[in-house]
Amino acid sequence: MRVIRSVKQMQDICRKARRAGSSIGLVPTMGALHEGHISLIRASLKDNDITVVSIFVNPIQFGPSEDFKQYPRPVSQDEALCREAGVDFIFRPSAGEMYPAGFKTYVDVLELGSVLCGASRPGHFRGVTTVVAKLFNACLPDRAYFGRKDAQQAIIIQRMAKDLNFPVSVKVMPIVREKSGLALSSRNTYLSQSLKRDAQVLSRALCLARKLIRQGVRDPERVTGKMASLINTAKSAKIDYISIVSTEHLKPVRVIRGSCLVAVAAWFGGTRLIDNTVISA
Ligand code: AMP
Repeated sequence: MRVIRSVKQMQDICRKARRAGSSIGLVPTMGALHEGHISLIRASLKDNDITVVSIFVNPIQFGPSEDFKQYPRPVSQDEALCREAGVDFIFRPSAGEMYPAGFKTYVDVLELGSVLCGASRPGHFRGVTTVVAKLFNACLPDRAYFGRKDAQQAIIIQRMAKDLNFPVSVKVMPIVREKSGLALSSRNTYLSQSLKRDAQVLSRALCLARKLIRQGVRDPERVTGKMASLINTAKSAKIDYISIVSTEHLKPVRVIRGSCLVAVAAWFGGTRLIDNTVISA
């Protein structure tokens, strides 16, 4: 396994590999790797000749009062996990390498990026799509792997790849959870034991939504209302949003029908967590 820090060197390696007929899978991450990331890596290893894991805590997707500085960066642990998993290359550029002086170009997916998490994190998805476009150009992947955990992000990236004709197949993989139901996240490391226990309420609320919809409830407000009551039983929980939206346009549905995304974001102490489930009714 090699760690590459320059865009030019990464492009040279990937161009050469493609010319030799090798397929390339890219797994974009911000590091602090856990089993959720490893599941994406495994999928890439299975489908491709070469797997590149990018590790980059992307400054432009964090708001001014968010956790960019604090975000965990366990560099050698991440390298060991990648090596153990069988990754071929880690692409770990510096912020200066990705955004040199004079940088002026952003990719913005309209509408999809301003709802749900985009409403509470203005500019977040513009930062995400910009960095992913740059990672696609640096690593020249045939396939790129994203987690359903960040469902809105995956939908936005699929839109971007289509709209901008990136020759990349965007794969979206299932959410990996702890036994308790809590979705794995690098930000879970911020949680104390008791906040972590409280945070389990998110996946329980999503299970409740699935159950209600299976029982025939079609009024989204009835479902989100019951979810809110359940989430509010956790002392530390502060709901940011609970929404039931169409998976294509991320617009709130008036009646639960077809493929819907039930998405939730809530604060537990100073940590904002998200979770979701896709339902076909
Ligand atoms: P991050 O490092 O948090 O930016 O995540 C990198 C990728 O891993 C994103 O595509 C995430 O959706 C995905 N991911 C993070 N947590 C999970 C999880 N629990 N299950 C599946 N994928 C995940």
